[in-house]
Amino acid sequence: MRRKLAAGNWKMNGTAEALGEIDAIAKTASGAEAEVLICPPATLIATAQGAAGDRLLLGGQDCHAERSGAHTGDISAAMLKDAGATYVILGHSERREDHGEDDEDVRAKAKAALDAGLKVIICVGETLEEREASNTLDIIGGQLAGSIPDLVTAQSLVVAYEPIWAIGTGKTPTLDQIGEVHDFIRGRLERRFGTGVGRSTRILYGGSVNPGNAAEIFGVSNVDGALVGGASLKAVDFTPIIDALSAAK
Ligand code: PEP
Repeated sequence: MRRKLAAGNWKMNGTAEALGEIDAIAKTASGAEAEVLICPPATLIATAQGAAGDRLLLGGQDCHAERSGAHTGDISAAMLKDAGATYVILGHSERREDHGEDDEDVRAKAKAALDAGLKVIICVGETLEEREASNTLDIIGGQLAGSIPDLVTAQSLVVAYEPIWAIGTGKTPTLDQIGEVHDFIRGRLERRFGTGVGRSTRILYGGSVNPGNAAEIFGVSNVDGALVGGASLKAVDFTPIIDALSAAK
């Protein structure tokens, strides 16, 4: 009942030369059972549309909370939509860290994105210190409560659990640790939005997913896909992840 989602976050990587990768990923996506999304830099969304066609979804990596105005360097949700995005990643730990975004900012951005007709991927995750102090679930619970607006549906919301210490480090939590957090998130979604929405909302794992560990991670309960950074940049790495997800039960 929940369609799997393989989402790639290209971060600040990629110029027009990377369009060949979009085309190659789109080829895999066209035959895949899982939904496939690439969030390239905003500058590439419109041009990537040609290569992506209707085989591959495109998304943004952030948006402003306002519709328009005097916000030099920022991009609105409507602009992302206009360029061809269907999703936007919000509250990524790099945004929270580099730009001081807090849960309230993420919620405001999510409202703006939903208003513009985008689907939102809201990221939550703990630091290593928080995990070691056994505070992981409290942190995740707080981020979920603060970052997700009330008006979401199972179609418009995706939650990504991304332990900060696992992003770009090659380290991953144990499968039990991933399962514990995903089960917890599912419970919180059901409690807040009711069992219908709670059970139908997709929850992605993110943090050093690669072709070697994808299949076992996708075997964990309540893991409905992945948000992938480094391994989404090249089709040769992302393709086996998409295949592993499509093959997952
Ligand atoms: C990310 O940036 O969301 C991410 C999970 O990165 P990586 O896969 O490179 O750890």
